[in-house]
Amino acid sequence: MKNVIVIGDGMAGYPIEELGGKTPLQVAEKPNLDWIASNGRNGLLKNVPEKMPADSDVAIMSILGYDPREYYTGRGPLEAAGMDIELEEGDVAFRCNLITMDDGFIKDYSGGHLSTEEAEELMEVVKKNFGNLGDFYVGVDYRHLFVLRNAKDVAGSLSCRAPHKIVGEKVDGNLIEPGSVDIAESLNRMMLESKEILSDHPINEKRVEEGKNPANAIWVWGQGVKPSLVPIFEKYGVRGAVISAVTLVKGLGVLAGMDKVDVPGVTGYYDTDYENKADYGLRSLVDHDLVLIHVEAPDEAGHSGDIEEKIRAIENLDNYIVGRFLDNLDEDFTVSVMADHPTPIVVRNHVSDPVPFSIYSTRGDKDNISRFDEFEARNGSFGTLEGYKFMDVLFSSF
Ligand SMILES: [Zn+2]
Repeated sequence: MKNVIVIGDGMAGYPIEELGGKTPLQVAEKPNLDWIASNGRNGLLKNVPEKMPADSDVAIMSILGYDPREYYTGRGPLEAAGMDIELEEGDVAFRCNLITMDDGFIKDYSGGHLSTEEAEELMEVVKKNFGNLGDFYVGVDYRHLFVLRNAKDVAGSLSCRAPHKIVGEKVDGNLIEPGSVDIAESLNRMMLESKEILSDHPINEKRVEEGKNPANAIWVWGQGVKPSLVPIFEKYGVRGAVISAVTLVKGLGVLAGMDKVDVPGVTGYYDTDYENKADYGLRSLVDHDLVLIHVEAPDEAGHSGDIEEKIRAIENLDNYIVGRFLDNLDEDFTVSVMADHPTPIVVRNHVSDPVPFSIYSTRGDKDNISRFDEFEARNGSFGTLEGYKFMDVLFSSF
């Protein structure tokens, strides 16, 4: 049995006026997703438990079969795994953004979306000045990693703010709390001093000249120790592969014991190479039993409030990924499709509502449903399921 899971990040949403009271998922032309819904079994997945952040790390941890209330330790260690960084017992991994500070305010969580080449040079300066505090690892664009060694005991007491949630707010008041713990104070000092050091770097002077936001400070957040997840092979007896442009999704896969398959041409944006994802996925199924394909584009469109791009992203996912699997799989297989969390156009952010999911199996029953969307899914035979039960259902029902 071969199993494919396709996650459209933020693909679900709310009805919107511009679409006559329908959701982008309802309006999109998506014959393959609809075929799976009408020939398979459906339901709603509650991927984000109460009081937990409605983000992809929590939601996709659920989808992979781990209750985030028990296993989620923070975003940093997931990204570390996606970047092939080994964390030892007691190490604490932080996400480290290159951001724009302006006159005491957080102006941009992404340092003007600088290039990886620019970031590499700036992070060299960061390493030189602050490398005595911990280890810095260069990632992609504005997204980097900072690891404190043997700091397990302090990590739990630190309260760090995610920079994308405090854009437009003052730096003071958003620094790490508590101020009285030594490590919090030195991390705060590091973030503030980085502004002095990076501001007049030639890269930033050039960016300002060109009217771009300078990447003139670092900001650490999302810290945690490595979560210990029982590999899916031990739980379900399947060999898994993960395909995503997003580091934290790759990291979740790696921590779940899946192989990370890097695909050329994937960007995590509208212009990602959808077909390549499907082709690499099909190839991965030769020596794996499960492949998880994650597509970021619908979420990006949701954040931008771009209805057209959101619909297009859903149609591309349908046509170039789901369609390609359905055309090329033979013998016994399942294809599951779902969102991780909704990113409604009207909210332009993630919400924690349950998301629609469908499982088609060559050996399975079907529901009396004709389309894949937020409303039809309510009539599915699975009802509303806790997200972390999805894998149990997938590997015990078919
Ligand atoms: Zn998002």
